[in-house]
Amino acid sequence: MKVFKFGGAALRSAATIRNVASIIRQHQNTPLWVVVSAMGKTTNALERVVAAFLKHEDYHTEIQNIYTYHQQLIEELFTDTQTALAILDEHIRAIHSTLVCNKDEDEDEVYDQVVSMGEVLSSQLIHRFLMIEGFTVAWQDARNLIRTDSIFREGKVDWKITEMQIGKAKKETAASMVITQGFMGADEQHRTVTLGREGSDFSAAIIAAGLNAKSITIWKDVPGVMNADPKRLPAAVVFPELPYTEAAEMTYYGASVIHPKTIKPLALKNIPLWVKSFADPSLPGTVIHDCKVDGLLPVIVFKENQCLLSCKVTDFTFINEEQLSVIFQAISALNIKINVMQNSAISFSCCIDFRENKVMALIEKLQAQFEVYYNTNLTLITVKNYDEESFETYRKKPNVLLEQSSRSALQVLVKDL
Ligand code: ASP
Ligand code: MG
Repeated sequence: MKVFKFGGAALRSAATIRNVASIIRQHQNTPLWVVVSAMGKTTNALERVVAAFLKHEDYHTEIQNIYTYHQQLIEELFTDTQTALAILDEHIRAIHSTLVCNKDEDEDEVYDQVVSMGEVLSSQLIHRFLMIEGFTVAWQDARNLIRTDSIFREGKVDWKITEMQIGKAKKETAASMVITQGFMGADEQHRTVTLGREGSDFSAAIIAAGLNAKSITIWKDVPGVMNADPKRLPAAVVFPELPYTEAAEMTYYGASVIHPKTIKPLALKNIPLWVKSFADPSLPGTVIHDCKVDGLLPVIVFKENQCLLSCKVTDFTFINEEQLSVIFQAISALNIKINVMQNSAISFSCCIDFRENKVMALIEKLQAQFEVYYNTNLTLITVKNYDEESFETYRKKPNVLLEQSSRSALQVLVKDL
C-alpha cells in the first residue's frame, strides 16, 4: 500500500490533471491511496468568500469566479461534461446554503465548513475523471477517516480514533485505489474541521500512518527537497536523501516544501517519504527516511513577514524569570510560536510571524507591564549546517536587526529592502 499526495498546483488545469492520471497509471500495480488538495488557488478564493461574507460584503462574485474556473477546467477535461457539471453545481449550492444557514455561528466554524468544500469538489471531480480513464477507484470522505477535536481551523488529531477509522476503511474497501481529501477531518459531532493551511501533506502522512503504508510520495512543482528556495538562490541543489530529523528541523525553520507536521507520524512508523516532481517524474527526487548523511550542505531558509517584538522593563530593574514567565504566558495563551528569542539586561526580544490581529492582541497584553516596541516587514534567514563561507555571507547582510548562532545554525533577522 502506497500513499500519493497531489497539491493544488498539480491539479490546477486539465493538462496537469491528465499528467496526474498518467503518474497514477504508472503505479497501478500497487494498492494506492491518493490524497488531493483543492484545485489551483481555490482555497484562497474560498477564504475570500468567507471573509467577504463575514464583513457583509459581496461574496457572490467570488463564488462565481470559483464556478467559472472549475467549469472551464471541466470543459477541457471531460468529453461528456454533464455529470461533472452536476457535481460542480451541487458544491456551489452547498457553499451558498452553508453561508446562509450559518449566519450566527462561530466564524472559524463557518470558515471550515466552506473552505473545505474546495477539497471535496476537487476529489469528486478527480474521482470521476479517473473512472472515465478506466481506473477502478473508490472515493472516501476524509471526515470519516480523520477524527479531530473541535478547534476549527487548527484541528488536533485524535490518533486512536483516526487509526481505527482508517483501519476499518482499509478493510472495507475492495478497490485497490482510493481517492480522498487532504486538509480536513471531522470532530465527534461530525462537523468539518480543517487542519490549517497547507495541511494536505499532513493529512497524507496521517493516512499513511493509519494504513501502515509502505511509502508516501508528495508530488511537487520542485524536483525534491532543496538546500534553498531556487527562486531565491538559483544554485540550490536537491538532496537525494535526508534523515527525518533533518527534514523536520528544516520545516521548523520555515522551509515550505512540506508541512511541518508531516514528518512525525511517518518517522514514528518508519515510513519513507518521497518528495518528487510531478512535472518530471523521471527525476529521482528526495527520500526522507531513517538514515545518516555525513557532511550535509548548508540549508538556507528564508522566512518572510516576520515581526520583532521587544519588551523593556520600566522600573530600573533587570529582566527576571518572573517577568519572562508573564511574557511566555501571554505568548502561549495566544497560540503564538516564537521563531527566535534573545534577552539583555533590561529587555526581552522575540521574532514571531506577523499575523496582525494576534500581534496587536499580544502587544496590548504586554503593555500593562512593559514598554513594547515592534518592527515589521522583516525576513528571518536561517543557515543550518553552516560552513565558514555561508556563515560570513549571511552575517554580513545589510540591515541585520538581530543575530544569533548555535553550533548548528546561524539566524539573522533582516529588514526587507
Ligand atoms: N488546500 C489547502 C490549502 O491550500 C490545503 C493544502 O493544499 O494543503 O491550504
Ligand atoms: Mg498546497
